[in-house]
Amino acid sequence: MTNRNKKNEFGLCDGVRVTSNGYEITTSRSNGSGVERVYNLPMVDEEKWIKEWENEGLHRALDGDKKQKFYLLVEFPYPSGAGLHVGHARSWSAMDAYARKKRMEGYNVLYPMGWDAFGLPAENYALKMGVHPSQVVPENIATFKKQCQALGLSFDWSREIDTTNPQYYKWTQWIFIQLFKKGLAYQAEVSVNWCPACKTNLADEEVLANGTHERCGSPTQRRPQKQWLLKITAYADKLLEGLETVDYSEDVKMQQVNWIGRKEWIDITYPVVGTNEKIVVSTTRPDTNFGATFVVVAPGHPILQTVKDRKVLEYAQKAENKSELERISQGKKKTGVFTGLYAVNQLNGQKLPIWVADFVLMTVGTGAVVGVPGHDKRDFEFAKAFDLPIVKVVDGDKMINSGFLDGLEIQTAISKMMDYLERKGWGKRIIRYNLHDWVFSRQHYWGEPIPIVHCPKCGPVAVPEDQLPVELPYLKKYEPSGTGESPLAKAADWVKAACPECGGPARRETDTMPNWAGSNWYFIRYLDNKNERELASKEKMKHWLPVDMYQGGAEHITLHLLYSRFIYRFLHEIGVVPTAEPYMKRRTHGIVLGADGRKMSKSFGNVINPDEIVRKYGADTLRMYEMFMGPFGQMVAWSDTAVEGVYRFLRL
Ligand SMILES: [Zn+2]
Ligand SMILES: [Zn+2]
Repeated sequence: MTNRNKKNEFGLCDGVRVTSNGYEITTSRSNGSGVERVYNLPMVDEEKWIKEWENEGLHRALDGDKKQKFYLLVEFPYPSGAGLHVGHARSWSAMDAYARKKRMEGYNVLYPMGWDAFGLPAENYALKMGVHPSQVVPENIATFKKQCQALGLSFDWSREIDTTNPQYYKWTQWIFIQLFKKGLAYQAEVSVNWCPACKTNLADEEVLANGTHERCGSPTQRRPQKQWLLKITAYADKLLEGLETVDYSEDVKMQQVNWIGRKEWIDITYPVVGTNEKIVVSTTRPDTNFGATFVVVAPGHPILQTVKDRKVLEYAQKAENKSELERISQGKKKTGVFTGLYAVNQLNGQKLPIWVADFVLMTVGTGAVVGVPGHDKRDFEFAKAFDLPIVKVVDGDKMINSGFLDGLEIQTAISKMMDYLERKGWGKRIIRYNLHDWVFSRQHYWGEPIPIVHCPKCGPVAVPEDQLPVELPYLKKYEPSGTGESPLAKAADWVKAACPECGGPARRETDTMPNWAGSNWYFIRYLDNKNERELASKEKMKHWLPVDMYQGGAEHITLHLLYSRFIYRFLHEIGVVPTAEPYMKRRTHGIVLGADGRKMSKSFGNVINPDEIVRKYGADTLRMYEMFMGPFGQMVAWSDTAVEGVYRFLRL
């Protein structure tokens, strides 16, 4: 039997040592050499050893230890009712092997786990089950934890966190207040993405390129509403520069660079013939301007105020009443009306007819575009539909029919044209970003209350920090209303508050934070998960940060990964965290598909339950199989026969 109190040179209990083959355990059943090779196969009592590890504290990370630290982070899960996915098991087993290797190499390894349990999925699940989220979340967490332990993952459970714990979200709210104080959290009436199925607003990042909600797949709409926003755009350049200082895989970097979308534009002015009016058009491709043959303005463009033609105004009116999605949907027949006005292309003195068409939106750019039908599909379709001239100005990658640009390559032509337009006073360079401010309020129950009080005299006022957390009140009926009002508005007693500034009667903010709020900073809380005075102590942050290796899903690159870099950068600027970037290294894992090559889903009947594999073959079989499935970064389909093969191999 092993001796619990005595540790050998590997830091393991006496009688257990690590070899290149696995663990060797000296037991009374040992063979002649006194050593028996044991794998965690079903004949071994896995549960016993898991308890033993936990009791021994084998996987605890030591604060302030002299050994070199290594902070290894995996994305903490939303604990769904479905339990652990074999995809979780794959990613965490791989990093578990890495953690164990680092420990054996003499590092003081921090490999923690916690639960991202606020948000829509938990709320929708609870609604479906007809129970309260505060009841299902702890149950789901318990299941997840048991499953992790059954896999023998060497997480340091003493650091476990749960984003729905008031002692945790107290600090999520505290961060919001710091942002508010610096003017980086603000309210504005904005056109927001709305999911009619989930009855909630969504951030741009949550809407897929085809206009559907990334969670539920329903088509989204846009509608105006007063919202809280976080000014992530103020950090656009810093988030770009920061990428130069970290080791992220190239695809991760490129996705963030493209999402931030820093581009040099030029606003070009076109005088309108016979008036004092001008039209400004913004473009990144002024090199094609010799090929411009018409201008199209949005139905709400101010230039239309100079137009008297009833037909034009009626068209514009009708177009404005259509939804944006309807107006810009592809493949739709192009419509438009000539306004009777002309703009002058000052480059060559050519008169460009000004049209109005529904596919141009006032909310995009300046609400006017210059038609270059030789080099733009949409402009080409428009020119074809209305018999407008089409001029080619690029051949291969060289300019033609373009005066002083002829023979130049596109990139050179762009900057030469920008220089020329600026020199002439016809255009002005401007940097624009694809990134928008982050819509940060949700009209849902299951989230962190936004710690703001609205006073009729003082406006929005932050809840004093010594009154945090603002706890989420228990609401029996918590369904989203669908009117845009948060369910918390129904908690009349909770809503009533005294203004922290003037003491007068005021109302609490009833919107809650999105499910990304708790994950913005969770990796900081692992360092000091019971601290009541700070997010984490300065000393512990200095010891452990930044994260040395962060492993997670490709679907989070422009969501959680970008958001948390922004928040961390902000915390660095206000002197809370020790470094500018949170994660030194980022790698992505591929998804585990069903045996049929499709995404695992109940409706396809192809979901693999890791518990069953563990019961039948043992945790080591599952883990080893998943490590040999294929390249870690790629999608890979499940195979039952390969599991069998690994099992037989381990039994040899
Ligand atoms: Zn939805
Ligand atoms: Zn007041």
